[in-house]
This record gives sequence, C-alpha cells and structure tokens, in this order.
Amino acid sequence: MKEDIENENEDVGQKKEEDEENNYTSKIEKLNEYHLEHKYLFRVCLLGNAGVGKTSLITRFCDNIFKETYNNTIGVDFRVVTLKYNDIIAKLHVWDTAGQERFRSLALNYIKNSHAFIFIYDICDKSSFESLSGWFNLALEKNKNSIVNVLIGNKCDIADARVISQNEGEQMAIANNFHFLETSAKNDENVLKLFYYITYKLINYYNENEYVENDNIELYSGQTEELPTSRLNENKCKC
Ligand code: GDP
Ligand code: MG
Repeated sequence: MKEDIENENEDVGQKKEEDEENNYTSKIEKLNEYHLEHKYLFRVCLLGNAGVGKTSLITRFCDNIFKETYNNTIGVDFRVVTLKYNDIIAKLHVWDTAGQERFRSLALNYIKNSHAFIFIYDICDKSSFESLSGWFNLALEKNKNSIVNVLIGNKCDIADARVISQNEGEQMAIANNFHFLETSAKNDENVLKLFYYITYKLINYYNENEYVENDNIELYSGQTEELPTSRLNENKCKC
C-alpha cells in the first residue's frame, strides 16, 4: 500500500516535469528591448553543411522573415536575442557559422565557448545527414561543456523531396542523446520552439549550477588551428 502511494507520487512528479517541459513555449517570451540587464548570456552555435538553412532559421527566429536566397555566410556572424522566462532575462548570442572550409578555423573560437549546439541537416539532402557525425565530433571534441545539444531536420515543408525520414532523424538524435525537432524556416514550423527549448533548458540548468559570465570571446584571434577536415565529408559539401 505504502509502496503504491510512493509509486503514485513518483508518477505524479514525473508527469509534472513532463507537462512543464511541454509547456515551456508558453512561458518564454522574446523581447524587443535590447538594453535590459540580463542574468544569463548564452552562446548558441549552429552547425551543419552549407545550404541546410542555418541562416534561414536564425533570420526566421530573429526577424520573422524568410528569403529564398541568402548570400553565403562569410566566416561567423551572430545575432543577439533577449528572452524572458519566469522573470529571468537571458540573452542569446546565436552564432551562424559558414560551411566553407576556409572559414572553419574562425568558427572554432565560438564552438569552444558555446553553451548549446544546434546541428542541422536538410531532410531533402542525404549528404547533409551523412556529414552530421563529422559536425558532432568536431563540436564535442572541442567543447565538452555544452549543456544542450539539439538535432534539427530542416525544410520539413518539402514533403515530396524528403530523403531522410523523421524516424531516421529521431534515431540519430537518440543515439547521441540529443533533443530532436523537424523545422521549416520557410513555413515557420518549430523555429520558436527550438530556441525556446534551448533557453528553457539552459536557464533551468544554470539556476541549479554555477554560472560564470564570459563575454570576452575574441572575434578574430588569428588562430590558425586546422579542423579535422577529413571527417567532415568534404567531397559531399555543396559549397
Ligand atoms: P545555410 O547555408 O545553412 O545558412 O543555408 P541558408 O539559410 O542560406 O539556406 C539555403 C537555401 O535553403 C536557401 O535558398 C533557403 O531559402 C532555403 N531554405 C532554408 N530553410 C528552408 C526551409 O525551411 N524550407 C525550404 N523550402 N527552403 C529553405
Ligand atoms: Mg548561411
């Protein structure tokens, strides 16, 4: 009897946690005020082959627009977004990295200092899916401290040309212990959810663990360290 009650309490606790996870989108807001004092500054880095939609996802999230063509991102670019959750203000620095090899050494600095990674493939491009392990290795070898990792199958609006099933994406995420979502930057599907999930997880994590702000990441360090290109499936990169 006592055991039953204890099990029941455990179930209720777990249910509450699940409900809260499912509700995070309604508790977070994106603010248009940029000068509010923040409690946390989080760096989020987007990685994946050229053409998968990194810039499009960021532009959808930050400006709520979608363009059919973007110039290739040169090097690394970043946007700042202010978010509020339970009266806590967090700033996200969202890093957009170029897929081009000659700029990868530049991306290293950001990779090393990220709190979260978003790994992206295009559900219509098999090579972008096959390149993922190279991106995982690169990021997680250089940064063992990332708190949240999310795998994204982008362009889920194009059903006809899909070559990677949702299940394949999910399995890849489960195998690596990542959160998984399919998104469409074009149709605005799951884009807010993606960034809200990361914010929610990071705030919860740092509410319980020590947080030290480090806003002193050098933009151009002159670092020449080469990245492990052989593992990044260069031949299949579209750029
Ligand atoms: P990046 O190289 O990873 O930054 O990719 P871009 O954001 O530049 O996008 C590459 C191309 O894919 C562009 O022509 C975008 O318009 C297109 N694209 C990006 N996201 C989506 C999406 O969700 N759906 C569709 N149909 N096209 C997309
Ligand atoms: Mg880009």
